[in-house]
Amino acid sequence: MSCLQLVHYNIYLPCYNRGMKKDVIIELETIFKLLGNRQRLTILELLRERAYSVSEIIAILDMEQSAVSHQLKLLREAQLVQTKRQGREILYCLSDSHVLTLLDNALNHVSHVLKKETHEEFLAEEREKNKKD
Ligand SMILES: [Zn+2]
Repeated sequence: MSCLQLVHYNIYLPCYNRGMKKDVIIELETIFKLLGNRQRLTILELLRERAYSVSEIIAILDMEQSAVSHQLKLLREAQLVQTKRQGREILYCLSDSHVLTLLDNALNHVSHVLKKETHEEFLAEEREKNKKD
């Protein structure tokens, strides 16, 4: 069973364009603060691939167990990751398609920023890639 429950997110997208509510801004601040941490970003980036157990995350990322547990707890509280049971193991995965889309968009943005390309150049490259496939 896939951990990600893919939903068409536009259905759930409320109109926050004008006059964003204070509680929404505060929650956004919480989420982006959580994302603004190298250890947590490294864990999230790994979980884009698939679900991993805590011991796998520790081994792959070469991090302290206490640090991984601490970061996973924080990420879980903000619904950025969730757990699922597989036999005796507890696996961690991204919570939902919003988190995946958020990370994918950020990674795509970073990839063209690092190359000092514009978003338009990135899109043109993507179109070229798709033509070849
Ligand atoms: Zn961009």
